[in-house]
Formats: sequence, C-alpha cells, structure tokens
Amino acid sequence: MQHIYSDPTFAMACEQLDLVADYLQMPSSLHNRLRFPKRAITVAVPVRMDDGSVNIFHGYRVQHHLSMGPTKGGTRFTPGVTIGEVAALAMWMSWKCALAGLPYGGAKGGVTVDPLRLSPAELERLSRRYMQEMIPFIGPHVDIMGPDMGTNERVMAWFMDTYSAYRGHSVPEIVTGKPVSVGGTHGRREATGRGVVYLIERAANLLKLELAGGTVVIQGFGNVGSVAAYGLAYKGGMRVIGLSDISGAYRNDAGIDVRAADRHVRKHASLAGFPGAEAIPAEELLLTPCDVLIPAAVSGVIHRDNASRIRCRILAEAANGPTTVEADRILAGRAHELFVIPDILCNAGGVIVSYFEWIQSLQSFFWNETEVADRLFRVLEQAFTAVIKRARDEKISHRLAALAIGVERVMNAKKDRGLFP
Ligand code: GLU
Repeated sequence: MQHIYSDPTFAMACEQLDLVADYLQMPSSLHNRLRFPKRAITVAVPVRMDDGSVNIFHGYRVQHHLSMGPTKGGTRFTPGVTIGEVAALAMWMSWKCALAGLPYGGAKGGVTVDPLRLSPAELERLSRRYMQEMIPFIGPHVDIMGPDMGTNERVMAWFMDTYSAYRGHSVPEIVTGKPVSVGGTHGRREATGRGVVYLIERAANLLKLELAGGTVVIQGFGNVGSVAAYGLAYKGGMRVIGLSDISGAYRNDAGIDVRAADRHVRKHASLAGFPGAEAIPAEELLLTPCDVLIPAAVSGVIHRDNASRIRCRILAEAANGPTTVEADRILAGRAHELFVIPDILCNAGGVIVSYFEWIQSLQSFFWNETEVADRLFRVLEQAFTAVIKRARDEKISHRLAALAIGVERVMNAKKDRGLFP
C-alpha cells in the first residue's frame, strides 16, 4: 500500500508491529489503528541565513497515539530525515513509554538539516522557527518535545523560550532536556547512557559475567555513547577497544583513553586524527570480538549480512532500531551465546528522566541528582525484570517480550477507552 510514510525505517517498525500483533492475536481493527500515526504534521521552516538569503527546511512532527496521555518524544536535526523515519521513531517511542510505564503516547520530530553546517545564529533561528510552526499542534498536555540526534540542551532552551514568549509566561513543561537553569532536571543529559550502563550490569549479573577487565565496542560517541563509555571504562573497569563517530571507526586493543577521546572531539569536532587508536574500516567495528557491543548511533546497522558474524556476549541497543527484523531472526537463533538488551528497553533512560523533568516542571518542585538516578534505576529495574520474565515464561526473544509488553499496554488502553463516537 502506498502512503506518505513509505520509508525503510517505517517498514521495519511496521514489520515488528505485525509480528507482535500476530503473537498477541490482536484484532485487525486495533492493529490498523496502531500501524498509522494519529497525527503527522509537516511544516516549511524558512530561515534567514547569515548571508541574507532565505532557506526553506522541511520540518516534521508525528504523534503516534493519544490513548494514554500526551505524546512525548525528541526532535532530530539530521540531513536525511523523512516523515516515514519520524513516524517509525514515534511508534517506537509509544512502545518504549508503555514498557517503562510512562503515561505517554509516542511522538518524534525532525528537521532535514545538517546542524554542523549552520552557524550558531542560524541554528537558533531554525530552532525557534521550527518551534513556532509547531505551536498550534503541541502543548504541555498535548505533546512534549525533547532532544534527539543533532539537538541538545541549547536547542531545547530555544524551544522553551519561543513557546513561552508566545504564551506570555514561562512554560518549562513544554520541553524536556532543557538546561537546569531554566527548569531542566539534574541527570537528564546523562540519563540514556546511565540507563544503558545499568542494564548492561544487570545483564552481566544474570549471565554471571565479570565486566571488570572485559572489552566493549561502542558505535557512536555522541551524548549516549560517550556517557556509556565513561561509565563502563571508569566505573565498570572495562576496556573500550572500539569506538566510532561520523568521521569513522577506531580500534585499540589495549583500551582507548575515553577522556582523551572526549577531549579530542571537543577540540576537533570529531574523532578524526585521534592519536590514541588506529583507524579501521567502519564496517569492521561491529564485528570486533568483545564482551559488550553497543550500537549507539543510527538505525539498521545490524542487518542480515553481519548479524551472524557479530561476536559479543551482550548486545546493548542504545540506538533506536539498530537491528533489522531479518537480523533479529538470526540473533534469536543465537540467544544462547548473545544476550540482547532491546532498544526500547536499553535506551529508555532518556525518556524516563524526561518524564521526571516534566513532572518537576509541572510542579515547580525539584529533585536532586541522586533522587533522579535512584528513581531511574527503579523504573529500569521493573522494566528489565518484566522483559526477562516474559521472555523466559513464554520462551520468546527479549525483543518480542519487550515489544509484547509495550504494545499490549497500548492495546489495552485503547480497548478500555473504546472507540469514539
Ligand atoms: N530521543 C530520546 C529517545 O529516543 C528521548 C526523547 C525524550 O526525552 O522525549 O528515546
């Protein structure tokens, strides 16, 4: 069927949903309602560039379902983003929020732009204009924005300021991931990476695998990958032997000095030329034998051609949708040797702390970093235990278990509310 969402990432999200719907014996009327987003908004975002010309960027926001509360999800600024990709990511946000027990439907936003090619002033004008175009469609009880690839605290502050200027008073609860100075929460920036580390430790504990002294490979050295690298290297005593970013992949079997890599990126904007590791072909990174493999970049990187050759004990999916459905079938057959922490569980720390931030902003009552971290671990622990139990009880993969829990909760909410009118 031809529709506006036609895109490989959307096809992948639908294929996953189809498998779960089958497994749950979901009525087809409900299945169809969950397949397509409730709302999709496309806007033209005109931005005056520093040279005086005006560029039009394409902006999107997709709200997947409205049955459990407002929608929630990040906004990505990436050159190739399409409405289909945003719709897939919004759907994954729905299952992720439901699995963590958050009172949200999923959403996602995107602008087709390479933020690294904009000046700071252009980035600010783009961010503000995108938010301004979205004002009719969002709200603190309608749809709450957050960060994603290519966006950060600064962009969230501009979003919050633009929305607040329109309302005539501060509305910090319209966006999460904003700086603490304007009502953000402690621990949001670290939340996703911190959650990834927590879950890896839980998995290792189950497997009776000693992490200290073990090896880890991380694809992506952004907000999530770098926090995970710091945690595993300096608290967990692991050796980071492989690392990558947009400039390429790097390997050092003696262990990469994560602090030095971070300093290099701050100075040179990427890992290119980093002296503490050897450059290797990008496609080799995920095949590097290691104890823990963390794809923390883009979707679809583990596919039918490399899934059987991945050599790790724990696959911690920090990115959204890193494993295709075909690869998943291969990994399911390797469950005895490879423990998968599926994306909607593994990277849920970000949106969980976003939920904490939203609550704090709504109440103007703030928590300290320890409270945030403790509560984060409690929510993750519940979700982790539920996934492992379901997988064991029903003899299914961790991914199917995680998706089944998330999708089932949304399905039940829809059933209980009934169909209007
Ligand atoms: N972008 C993050 C994710 O994919 C979270 C967004 C948010 O905090 O709303 O889970």
